[in-house]
Amino acid sequence: MAQRAHSILAPSSKEWFYCGYATRFLATKAEETTEASEFGSECHLLAEHYIRQSLKLEDYESGNKKTTDEIKSGLKHYSEEMERLANGYANYVISTVDYEAKRTGEQPVVLIEQLLEMDYAPDTHGTLDCGIIAGDTLTIIDNKTGFIKVTPFDETLNELNSQLGIYGLYAYKCYKDFYPIDNIRLVIYQERIHNVSEYSITSEELEKWEKERLIPAVKEALSDDPKANSGVWCRFCPGRNSCRKRAEDTLQAVKEMKKPEFMTDDEIEAILTKLDSIATYIDDIREYCLKKAIEGKKWKGYKIVESVTKRKISDEDVVAKILSDNGYNPFAPKKLMPISELQKMLGKTQFNDLVGGYIIKPKGQAVLAPESDAREEMIINKEMK
Ligand code: SF4
Repeated sequence: MAQRAHSILAPSSKEWFYCGYATRFLATKAEETTEASEFGSECHLLAEHYIRQSLKLEDYESGNKKTTDEIKSGLKHYSEEMERLANGYANYVISTVDYEAKRTGEQPVVLIEQLLEMDYAPDTHGTLDCGIIAGDTLTIIDNKTGFIKVTPFDETLNELNSQLGIYGLYAYKCYKDFYPIDNIRLVIYQERIHNVSEYSITSEELEKWEKERLIPAVKEALSDDPKANSGVWCRFCPGRNSCRKRAEDTLQAVKEMKKPEFMTDDEIEAILTKLDSIATYIDDIREYCLKKAIEGKKWKGYKIVESVTKRKISDEDVVAKILSDNGYNPFAPKKLMPISELQKMLGKTQFNDLVGGYIIKPKGQAVLAPESDAREEMIINKEMK
């Protein structure tokens, strides 16, 4: 298939939606694939195969008739983990189709890896992981394979996740003349961190969102003089290390800080939300400086050094023999292997059967995290106070 031109306002990039100036950086961003993005694409491919196989859906577009083994043998990053993630997502889609069929008494329309043309900006399109049309409901399921929790409604920003909003909107626009769609159910399925989040919106509300949020954001992003607006989205922006606005806003937030005991709880609450942005900014700058230094840039007052590591013995048998031959007993009482090594030796099932009951997970320390964090809220008891 011919390579499609890539839109700078791709639905998956959040930064242009919140900061028009980000388009300046997005326009010069080189297309890059990482191991994680390759893993994600391959996982989608495998899951698509399982769904099509189970629901007996033909792939008319590519005419793909490969067997499971043929598909797997073409995957560079195939692993047990990929199998687990692909199966989890495929099962979720299949059970949702089944549920919708029972709920409406009709066989739903199922769209898998469906290309959607999008006219909000030039050369814009996206691939919908899964769409299910049943009665008056269109369900959009987005399969995420990363570790950072994603939700269709962003509680931190208090608004619709722009990517899911755009997918829902364009799937709705594409099929609304053929099916009586009134409700759009947006679902994020993230097997890796056991996150299934959903948000329902009416077609009327989604069209209002298009008019009041999407179109103004696109206009701003494509204008001659887009404004810069820093926030949590900066961490995904290709300009995150060199953007003046981000640097100024971060430094301003630091300037506004006083000693905690001199601040009211309201002032502290306002700063809490900025702390993560400041920490992320520091990490980004450090990473950028190191990368440049490795490439040859000399930062005044800095040098590259080797990180501190623990000493290890390269050949324990030889060292043991040398020491024994010299009259020493180099053996400490025999130690059990680390858990990961034991599990590797026994295999997961055998490991759980034999010693699973003896494996404990010590309680972690209490740490403050944003509401969007994937971990469960900790219950604080009296002794911890
Ligand atoms: S780093 Fe942040 S403020 Fe700067 S252009 Fe990117 S999104 Fe906008």
